[in-house]
Order: sequence, then C-alpha cells, then structure tokens
Amino acid sequence: MILRQERGLAWLFSGLAALGVGVGGSSYAQTPAVTPTASDEAPLLASRRITTDTSTAALTLEVLLVNDPDFPEVTQKAAEAILTQARATLADKLSFTTITFKVKGSESAATFLGRNVPAGDACLAEYEPLRVRPGQHQAKNVDPKLVRRFLGRWELGALRSFFPETEREALTSYEVLADKLLQEFDRKVEAIAAFKLKDGTSLLAPEKLDQRSYVNWICALRNQDDADLILTNAFILYDLASEPFPHSIFAKCKVGGASLVSQKRRAIYRRAVFASTFSMVTDLPFFQEEGVGALSADERLAVIGTFIVAHELGHALFKLPDFYDHPPECLMTTKFETGYVSGYRDLLSHPGPCPKCQPWIEAKRSVFVAEEARREQRYDAAIENLRLAIKRTPKHIDGNYVRYIADLSVQVAENYLALGKSKEAQQWLGAALRIAPDHQEALSMQKQLQVSPLAP
Ligand SMILES: [Zn+2]
Ligand SMILES: [Zn+2]
Repeated sequence: MILRQERGLAWLFSGLAALGVGVGGSSYAQTPAVTPTASDEAPLLASRRITTDTSTAALTLEVLLVNDPDFPEVTQKAAEAILTQARATLADKLSFTTITFKVKGSESAATFLGRNVPAGDACLAEYEPLRVRPGQHQAKNVDPKLVRRFLGRWELGALRSFFPETEREALTSYEVLADKLLQEFDRKVEAIAAFKLKDGTSLLAPEKLDQRSYVNWICALRNQDDADLILTNAFILYDLASEPFPHSIFAKCKVGGASLVSQKRRAIYRRAVFASTFSMVTDLPFFQEEGVGALSADERLAVIGTFIVAHELGHALFKLPDFYDHPPECLMTTKFETGYVSGYRDLLSHPGPCPKCQPWIEAKRSVFVAEEARREQRYDAAIENLRLAIKRTPKHIDGNYVRYIADLSVQVAENYLALGKSKEAQQWLGAALRIAPDHQEALSMQKQLQVSPLAP
C-alpha cells in the first residue's frame, strides 16, 4: 500500500488495451495514480438507474472478538446483536442478502497483536519511520515528500476547510498547510497521551502503546490468518504520520475501523476489516460519540453494526471509498459534522440504497458472478464477467486501484489456466505484473507456467 510504489495507470492502460480490455474513457490515461476526489465519478452516474441484486454471492465471514481489558468488553451476545444489525444494513443499503458471520472466539488485544506482530516484524520495520510515538517521534519529522504526495489527493481549498476559519487565509500552499496539519497532529497526540484511565495509568502508557497503535493494527491485519472481521473494543490511536487525514487529525485522532490488506485471507480477496466499539462505549468524555448518552444499550449496538461494521464492509466487499457528497441514503458518507449517531439516524430516516454508489456495486457484482461461475466450472463466463468488472470499476476505490485491477487480471489468468489456455493465462499474468511487479500470486503462477507450460 503506501510504501509500495505501483507503476502508473499508463502502464495499466497499455497492458489491458493489448488484451482487448477497454478501461473507462480516454481521461484515464491522464489520471495520476493517486486517489482522485469522489466528485470525479459524477459523470458516470447520470444515465444509470440500476437495481442491483448481489444475492448470487453467498459469503461467510469469520469473526474474531479482540478485547482490551481496560475498556467495556465486546461480549459474544453483543457481537451477535452487532452482526445481525450489520447484515440488515448490508441487505438494505448494498442489496447484499446472503452474508453469514461465524464468530470463532475471543482473545485479548495484547495476545492478538503479540502473535501477529512479533518483535522484528518486517511490516512494522517498514512503517516505523512513519509512526508517531508520543514523546519520541513527532509527526513533523516524517518525510515531507510523503505528506505532500498524500495531501495532493485533495484540492488545497478542500483541505483548508478543516482548519479554523481564522487560520485559513494563511494556508497559501500545500507546504504551509502540511506544516500546520502536522503541528496539530503532534498537539493532539500529546493531549491524548495525557489522558488517564481509571487505574491512573496513561491511555498511551509505554507498555500499552503498541496495542493501541494503528500502525501495529495495520501490520497485524496484514500478517494474520485468524478472521475476515476483527470486532474489538480497543482504543486505536491514529499514528500514521505519512497520511495525515485532516478529518482524523482535527477530530479525535483515533481509528474506529478500517479495511486493510490481509495477504492470507480469501473470503474478501486479500483483505480483512477491523471495527472498534470503543467510542460508542467508552467513559472517557473526549472520545464519546456525540449523542451516545441518549441511546439505550441496544441502540448503541445497532449504531455499531450499521455505521462501523457495515460501513467498513462496504469498503472491503464493494471497494466503495468514503464519500463526502452522496445523498442521505449513503452508507459510505464520512463528514466532519456527521458522527456515528447522527449518521445512523440519517440512514434510518432514508432507507434503501444510495443511487450514487451503484457503479461500484454493479462492478463488484460482476466479480461475484465470476466467482460463482468459476465454482461451477463455467470458466468462459467467469472470464467474461471479470473483464466486465475490470472495465466498469470506478478508478476511485477503497484500497489501491492498480493493485485491484492486477488482482482481477490474475483471476482472469487462473480461469484461462483452468481452460488449458496457457498462452492467454501468460498474457494476463504479464499484464498484472507490468502494473504490480511484486504481485506474489502472479509471480508464482508465472514460475509454475515456465516450469510446465502445458499444465492446465
Ligand atoms: Zn470509511
Ligand atoms: Zn453513496
């Protein structure tokens, strides 16, 4: 992800064109590989009115409960209520009716992270220079080039709007704005480090810091093979300084959930999700969601199921990014002024799917149909649907677009291989590797093909 440089979209474009796959319109070739803003997708939508039924794809997700004993526990019973609510939301908002959750068990946060992010872990070493450590490594010391590239995803004006009005005028360049943003980051982390738990220890005490670090959670999810969804009560500090999301820095500087790379998991291709109940159950006033005090215990679980779990699964399952400009039906709305509770109320009063999310849902539907066809050994149909998905997937997705297209290309190759067409399989693997040269699955398939070229 962030550290791994993918080749640009021009490569992708020429590679897929050679295979006869058109990708979007001609504007693609000029689009930089960074994530564009959500509004770029608008022209795609005007003429489409599709009721999507994704119910062909049955999916079982394994769930692990991970608890930090310093905060109110996610019990088995609470988890069941949360997951039931998440199912209902996925059916209502994304027409995804056939998902099942299987809770495998529970574990402490210390054990889960210790097991999956051992000392000397390569992922952790890769992220260490980007990590904020209270009292040790400040956000302002991270490589400014990385921060500049990250902020380049947004217009300067859009970024400015997160700052207090009195400061906006002085923010005349990305560099000035980055300085101010990172100062705010450091100030926020310092303030959070001063919070005390009931037993008098610091929320960010050195012995607890690793299990409360987003960077550690990123690496744990990358390495683990325990579950597709980790439901936790953990407080997770946003400590990734190379990606200073203004809405995180100016809010609570914590992470409520994320859809992340998880190499060993396949239910959601190479991804897993974590979702935290922390801000809905904590008694630390700074972190409490606005309006949470007025909710019953059951209502809190419903908010978690909808606005945290189903929202994160919207990212992971349908590649939907966060949106700032979608109608009130939208499950993916992420706004500075919309908290979990008010967001949940918006969704309750506007049932049904978001029309502007349909292109993503439709593109992903082709992938589900392809998977089904492959299970039934209808490989030609699988290939056809995967090509359709490659063509239709909007370029602004959750995760890395180029990587995702490489993943789909590898799946096309697998289907060609099942048909005994090794030449076509080679071509698609070549296309995948041109855009993602370190794609492990593509590399190992290519190696196999070189050893025994005729093996189906
Ligand atoms: Zn989100
Ligand atoms: Zn939407």
